[in-house]
Amino acid sequence: MSSYDTALSADPEVAGLIHQELHRQQSTLQLIASENFTSPAVLAASGSVLTNKYAEGYPGKRYYGGNSIIDEVEDLARDRATALFGADHANVQPHAGANANLAVYQALLEPGATVLAMRLDHGGHLTHGSPASITSKVWRFVAYGVTAARDDPERPGEVIDFDQVADLAKREQPALIVAGSTAYARTIDPHPFREIADSVGALFMFDAAHPAGLIAGGAHPSPVGVADVVTMTTHKTLRGPRGGAILCGADLAKKIDSAVFPGLQGGPLEHIIAAKAVAFAEAARPEFRHYAADVVRNAAALGTALAAEGFRLVSGGTDNHMVLIDLRTFDAELTGKEAQEVLDRAGITLNRNTIPDDPRSAFVTSGLRLGTAAETTAGMGPAEMQVIAGLIGRTLRTRSDEASVAAVRSEVAALCAGFSPYRDLLS
Ligand SMILES: *Cc1c(COP(=O)(O)O)cnc(C)c1O
Repeated sequence: MSSYDTALSADPEVAGLIHQELHRQQSTLQLIASENFTSPAVLAASGSVLTNKYAEGYPGKRYYGGNSIIDEVEDLARDRATALFGADHANVQPHAGANANLAVYQALLEPGATVLAMRLDHGGHLTHGSPASITSKVWRFVAYGVTAARDDPERPGEVIDFDQVADLAKREQPALIVAGSTAYARTIDPHPFREIADSVGALFMFDAAHPAGLIAGGAHPSPVGVADVVTMTTHKTLRGPRGGAILCGADLAKKIDSAVFPGLQGGPLEHIIAAKAVAFAEAARPEFRHYAADVVRNAAALGTALAAEGFRLVSGGTDNHMVLIDLRTFDAELTGKEAQEVLDRAGITLNRNTIPDDPRSAFVTSGLRLGTAAETTAGMGPAEMQVIAGLIGRTLRTRSDEASVAAVRSEVAALCAGFSPYRDLLS
């Protein structure tokens, strides 16, 4: 028994569920683009006694006593974040990426101000002005999208339409322009956004929730120093604990900090902040540069292999950790919803996703989103990506045959057995 299990044996019900989830994570393929496997050190810090401490405020300016060590923890996390990304200031308290975005809007915008951000059905995030999100109730969001798909392999389209961004910026005079996406497989160059923002006197926020780890690892261009503010999650490609962070220049530091606390949150999660510090240090190591490059290389291999199975790649390919596929070229009848469900039964975990101008609803969809960040952490490479694409194709072609789906599930388990990120945690 590991020490992990010993502590949890006090609650067999919860222990049992954690054990089952550990087994699921290690015996099925984790291809959700926003997920990863943290290191055991990140897990340990997240499960530490730092969870006991109340620390409203910031290092040196706390509302409760007993925070001298906590101050060191948070200072370490902030220093490591600013060093890793080359930023003036970091706020490591946002509980999640959504909170980081809300805090920036609250810091920089008056209620009712206009914000230009990516269309949700083209890959924007809920916090970029979804009707279901509080963001659209407090601020006025105007959306830009991607260009139309083209039949030209040299210029396949479905890339950010910068002419539209510029036209909308001119017409709507936004106070803030937001770049960043939750389902976009291409590099997002911050420079054209900066130029457009400057041309209309808007501020520029780069939401790096997905590519933060690729940026830290040098596989993607950094928006730090180009955008006024950069928000991120720490749990996607950055491979840290579930959480958020904000980077900005010294000029905006005070505004951002007050927007996070007391503007939006109460006491910070110092155990998670310690785990963020661990993750920032891990991402600063040379191995992480190799990891980021491998994630991108694996996504390219997965995309090529999926195209060979008959799926159409949205935008014709990928530059990052994610592949967005259009199922209609594979099977016009197959929806994203059905594909996700049958792949789940085959032990292949991913999510359905709208594709640009999807004729189906956001609940049904015509696409799937896949990511390589987690299985790259587990040690998989291009050869495994080829195998995975074949298993996906086979599962979906034979989806009405449960015996075939079950056979894939066994092959998936055999594949995953060779790539176990938490071998030591299994008793
Ligand atoms: C994931 C994501 C977020 C929000 O992250 P949570 O931690 O789930 O709140 C924000 N913006 C984008 C673009 C994302 O992909």
